[in-house]
Amino acid sequence: MKHLYVHVPFCQRRCSYCDFSIAVRKRIPAREYVEAVLGELAAVLAADPGREPGDYGGESLETLYLGGGTPSLLPPEAISALLTSLRDALHVTSARDDVEVTLEANPEDVTLDHATAWRHAGINRISLGAQSFDDRVLKWMHRSHDASRIGDAVQTLRAAGFDNISLDLIFALPSELERDWARDLDLAGDLFPAHLSLYGLTVEERTPLARWISRGAVRPSEDERYADEYLLAHMRLAAYGYRFYEVSNAARDGRRSRHNSAYWSGRAYLGVGPAAHSFDGRVRRWNRSAWESYRRAVSAGLLAVEVEETLTEEQRELESLYLGLRTDGGVPVAALGTPSPPSVARWVEQGWADVVDQRLVCRPAGWLRLDALVRDLTSAGRAS
Ligand code: SF4
Repeated sequence: MKHLYVHVPFCQRRCSYCDFSIAVRKRIPAREYVEAVLGELAAVLAADPGREPGDYGGESLETLYLGGGTPSLLPPEAISALLTSLRDALHVTSARDDVEVTLEANPEDVTLDHATAWRHAGINRISLGAQSFDDRVLKWMHRSHDASRIGDAVQTLRAAGFDNISLDLIFALPSELERDWARDLDLAGDLFPAHLSLYGLTVEERTPLARWISRGAVRPSEDERYADEYLLAHMRLAAYGYRFYEVSNAARDGRRSRHNSAYWSGRAYLGVGPAAHSFDGRVRRWNRSAWESYRRAVSAGLLAVEVEETLTEEQRELESLYLGLRTDGGVPVAALGTPSPPSVARWVEQGWADVVDQRLVCRPAGWLRLDALVRDLTSAGRAS
């Protein structure tokens, strides 16, 4: 297994749009958490006696991703202990910076002491939850940082030796907020991070945002605003040297996320921690999502997996089509059938996709219509 994901479920409060399974805690139970994750990993290794621990990591571990939740809420010494124990448990022998090790962090947790300790612990990539550079918007989102913290965090991370920094931004906010998306893009570009992830706001059930909408306090963003802001991001960020290599992710100088690229290319990965997913190329597994239920299962020596699903060949093909089209690598035209479905020519004609080196690759306008393209291609396949 070359890719390991570790889910850290703790947050200090819930953001207005977030429906993730998180554990809101004032005090982070860091010791119990590290013990539980290492316990789960030991159980996974023991349940698979045909494999040596080195098969999960060894020299071949390529990426390790601490996501959440808010992993930066863990004390630096807990992060360091966790990473050391994971490397030991998986017999990882490769040089530290040969493995891409990402930590998701919120700007308010970035201090010079923390950043220096993270770098010493072996973290070499930071994904920073910036979301917006407008204080009114951040407040509406229930974020804990203000806009000035974002630039400060980037400078502090650089001072501590991080050059691989990604910023997350959210677009397509309700029009009542009068958010200036172009300004936010420019402020992000001016900080010149290696990578940017842009997510359109979605309204999830049982969130404060869904409640505001149901009582008419805000209106969800229209599709038109979503499309305009998405296309504006492509234009604006290109001027800063960023290239979208996936529907929601742009990098400069080729600094793509190696970890997320593994997901999009359908590679196997192991996920540990509450709500973590794993995929071995055929079977997808989901861990129990609630922290207490996860912790109890692991401490009772049980596997944390709650659901597993074996993908059929048809599901695997559909998934690889969908994932391929999400990226700038596209999918081989030959894999779409012979002759190729008429939708391919139609999409090229409309300017929604190109055929590059015998591969069908979406343009930004095609990425906006990705579901429709996949539907077109698959219904053409079923009809033939
Ligand atoms: S910090 Fe992230 S995971 Fe936590 S509540 Fe906010 S959006 Fe959700």
